[in-house]
Amino acid sequence: MEPRSAGALGKEFPYTRKTLCYIEIAEDGTVSQGTDAGTYDRARTGKSRLFAVWPGEWSSHLFVIDDLDEYARAHGLIHDQDRTGLADHEHVVRWEVDPYEAKPMASYISIQLELDCGCTIEDRRTFASQMRAQRGWDIATSGGWGKRTGQGRTTYSLRARRKSLTQ
Ligand SMILES: [Zn+2]
Repeated sequence: MEPRSAGALGKEFPYTRKTLCYIEIAEDGTVSQGTDAGTYDRARTGKSRLFAVWPGEWSSHLFVIDDLDEYARAHGLIHDQDRTGLADHEHVVRWEVDPYEAKPMASYISIQLELDCGCTIEDRRTFASQMRAQRGWDIATSGGWGKRTGQGRTTYSLRARRKSLTQ
């Protein structure tokens, strides 16, 4: 079976889908399943080749992971401003406790947040990890979140651990 090119599908290739099965073939022919922290470097430096089986409803397809930058961006190994909407910088954040928060003293509370730095939040997980690094915030990455745009402003509704919101 001739593998297809994952790179040819660009961002359509589901790099992070849980049902995707990665197969790494080392220089010496050793085959291993799955990926680890070193996979990207080994594949990038030619120490291994990376493939993925994409299970379909009727048949599975074998892909060669030939665009390793796209693989790394999808997995958050290198920063991707297009995918996340977020620059790799210190965000300028304005926020307040959601005025409709019914339990403002609970451990997790709803906040309303705006970004004055021009970023948009397309990927909550990336924003949460940036805010953890920049301000020590714990933004919830499961459960609902929202985005409201009007009069040229975008306001996000997020949940965060109250005591982490120190500034
Ligand atoms: Zn920003």
